[in-house]
Amino acid sequence: MKFKNCFCDLSYISFFRRGPLILRLVLVCAVAAYFPLAALPLYAPLGTASGALGIALRSRLFPHNADMGGMETIYEEHDGGVFAQNASYKTEGEGEASALAAGGVLEPEEFSVSTPLIFFAHTLERGDMIGNLAIKYGLNEGTLISLNGIRNTRAIQAGRALKIPNQDGVMHKVAKGETLESIAKQYNVKPEPLVSANELFGEKINAGTTVFVPGAKMNEAALQEINGDLFIRPIRGRFTSAYGWRRSPITGARSFHRGIDLAAPTGTPIGAGMAGRVTSVGYSPVFGNYVIISHHSNYRTLYAHMSSVRTRTGAYVSTGQTVGYVGNTGQSTGPHLHFEVYKNGVTVNPLQLMH
Ligand SMILES: [Zn+2]
Repeated sequence: MKFKNCFCDLSYISFFRRGPLILRLVLVCAVAAYFPLAALPLYAPLGTASGALGIALRSRLFPHNADMGGMETIYEEHDGGVFAQNASYKTEGEGEASALAAGGVLEPEEFSVSTPLIFFAHTLERGDMIGNLAIKYGLNEGTLISLNGIRNTRAIQAGRALKIPNQDGVMHKVAKGETLESIAKQYNVKPEPLVSANELFGEKINAGTTVFVPGAKMNEAALQEINGDLFIRPIRGRFTSAYGWRRSPITGARSFHRGIDLAAPTGTPIGAGMAGRVTSVGYSPVFGNYVIISHHSNYRTLYAHMSSVRTRTGAYVSTGQTVGYVGNTGQSTGPHLHFEVYKNGVTVNPLQLMH
């Protein structure tokens, strides 16, 4: 666009038309190389070939010049053939721009090789899952997990802002004696993108600092652990009632079922859903004999209707350790385990947290 203003006076055209052919050819190539628009009026007398030569020269000199806005329309009006290549270049440029505007990832290889690490925020909404977000943003799940230091993908909470990077990779804490080359080798990637992504122009890294390793993938075992199910099923019982609103089997009234029911014969051992500390053991008219265990990340589990309890308040239990036996105590219509999971004091659907 800006070239229009610079060359509104077209008197230079007549000068070109009078000189020796070879000189004109050289000059038009030079003008086309720097100012393709200004060279446009010169193409006709010298032939399309010189114009094409000039454009080819220019594209060699400025292979990544993205400032081509508005030019391709004019080119097409004058000579579609010569500028076809430029037009397609422009189309690619638009693709990149829209991908960026949409918060997407730069697709062309030349960009993915050495792009500084930038990211924007995604505030987690209820129901957001790392796996789905990774698909949405065209990233590996491990990238989001690593960059955000997520220790359990099932324990991510709505309202938390996640960093969404512009490229795949993992965070790496630099150990003593490690170099960019050794880190790159560890992850089977090239060292150069490490420099640009972390803007390490001195190429010196200190132990203890964290660097982003572009293109690196998270260790599969670590990923499985982080993605692993938070709770195990306390018993291998028959699933008889879901979490949520239902008609009460006792009163017939609509009520909210705060846990899940798993039916099993009386005396079936009940295992702790996850390691933790027993914070409550007791009897209530509703739950019968019950046990409450506190876990990490503000989780608590409740086991109700036990025939008998096999733990005590304050005891530390491991995952799957027997804490009691299936029974029919309290408000119960048959031997089963009523299992509740609390997160920050609020019940959540246990099925979303276990196998
Ligand atoms: Zn129940």
